[in-house]
Amino acid sequence: MAFDWIFTLLKAQIGNHPKEFTKTVKTKECPSCAMEVDDKAKVCPICQFEFPKRSPWITWMAIFLVILWLLSYIL
Ligand SMILES: [Zn+2]
Repeated sequence: MAFDWIFTLLKAQIGNHPKEFTKTVKTKECPSCAMEVDDKAKVCPICQFEFPKRSPWITWMAIFLVILWLLSYIL
């Protein structure tokens, strides 16, 4: 299904939600080795895990597309 990637993206976003808002220094938790790494890092420096791209505008675009998709069913 074409919208699967949106839900994957949203799930990733929700999963990281509480930590990103409580941290003053921007870090993210590596899903592979559970270490805090630089938020801007594309690859984990500890285990070389490749982080999926997560830009705020992509998240909002995904939400917008989901709303638009739902509206197309309602209207
Ligand atoms: Zn790692």
